[in-house]
Amino acid sequence: MFDKVLIANRGEIALRINRACHEMGIKTVAIHSTADANAMHVRMADESVCVGPPLARDSYLNIPAIVTACEITGAQAVHPGYGFLSENAKFAEIIEEHGITFIGPKPAHIRLMGDKIEAKKAVKRLGIPVVPGSDGGIATDEEALKVAAEIGYPLIVKAAAGGGGRGMKVARDESELAIALATARSEAKAAFGDDAVYLERYLQLPRHIEIQVLADSNGKVVHLGERDCSLQRRHQKVWEEAGSPALNPEARDKIGKIVTDALGELGYLGVGTIEFLYENGEFYFIEMNTRLQVEHPVTEMITGLDLVREQLRVAHGGLIGFDQSDVTYSGHAIECRINAENPKTFRPSPGLIKDFHVPGGLGVRVDSAAYSGYRIPPNYDSLIGKLIVHGKNRTECLMRLRRSLSEFVIDGIETTIPLFQALVNEKDIIDGDYSIHWLEKYLKRQQEAG
Ligand code: ADP
Repeated sequence: MFDKVLIANRGEIALRINRACHEMGIKTVAIHSTADANAMHVRMADESVCVGPPLARDSYLNIPAIVTACEITGAQAVHPGYGFLSENAKFAEIIEEHGITFIGPKPAHIRLMGDKIEAKKAVKRLGIPVVPGSDGGIATDEEALKVAAEIGYPLIVKAAAGGGGRGMKVARDESELAIALATARSEAKAAFGDDAVYLERYLQLPRHIEIQVLADSNGKVVHLGERDCSLQRRHQKVWEEAGSPALNPEARDKIGKIVTDALGELGYLGVGTIEFLYENGEFYFIEMNTRLQVEHPVTEMITGLDLVREQLRVAHGGLIGFDQSDVTYSGHAIECRINAENPKTFRPSPGLIKDFHVPGGLGVRVDSAAYSGYRIPPNYDSLIGKLIVHGKNRTECLMRLRRSLSEFVIDGIETTIPLFQALVNEKDIIDGDYSIHWLEKYLKRQQEAG
């Protein structure tokens, strides 16, 4: 196994990776910006290196500084976490060129899945069902009109380089298409420096269901079941569950087999998530994430597997030590993303956390790098912690979630905890009866009611 791993991230995920390394007897190196000099992920690591000023571009995305940090400390591998450089194929290549292991898939697969048009073509060839849409990029408005007439309205214009819900625009009819194209293009250009877009049928009431996979260098691929991430705001996940209230074991096994066969053929390595929309019993691929995901803990809670440990093992050339038939699911898990934001307007609320007390007890897990006296810098995303609860079934899980939310104290800043306290008592949520549009509609109703 590696002796020393550099964690190229910050916040709760850097701590999460640090924990797995320490359990395995691996020394850790934290990197940080000047804004994070006193952050928890720095304090918990064995060593740390400052890689630049607060702007992410100059620090957590600063490839030369991160490579230098590996060389100074003698780190043999880099774990990128999620976000930042985790899906940057160039970074993975540079790391490997320096004789350091990138804890993730092969650069070619990161690159392939990072281009949503190419990814869709590739997975379709491998037998994964996709959302009906244009077979490739759309160059002109005329072409868009022609393809749109074939797909039918409503449809969604999506950016090939898309991520984080950006560069997506819905067109309900022909008259909305030109403007949707122009807005998606300019948003994509600004966010990703690439204005390539494609068209997809806009599904009306789907759920977002994703399959977690793990693959080793010997070609073995297993799946670890699904997560339901249908509760979203602006195409961003807010609440995630494992398993999905909408899926039965047969449907899970069926899609799981399609996915593992496809990734086996591709020669994939490491963890990955295939994201689908699920409507009327059918799965439609939307994208693949070639990294650990924010919501991975719900899968860990029901499978008992440590996904970061598995990542480290397979990155080091180790083989998966169990078979698909050994993967069992115990109970139900829910994760709430606690953000430093106003729970109604979602305006970021950085600043000093005066008091921080986390819930505990049976089946409760809090992944967070915050503490009493911690000042949240304004430079990064607003996730300050994840509350993950596990119960023997969904009902117990919801009871435990209600109880845990009432114990959670974060004073000094605004957080999204009150939103979750309201959601956990909503009938549709209790019934597990919600699509990807449920939360937006709920928030609109709340806003109108004042
Ligand atoms: P990103 O990479 O920006 O997260 P995704 O392709 O994963 O983009 O889509 C994010 C979310 O946008 C989905 O979970 C879903 O809510 C919505 N979405 C994407 N494609 C469609 C579609 N064809 N029809 C309806 N909703 C969609």
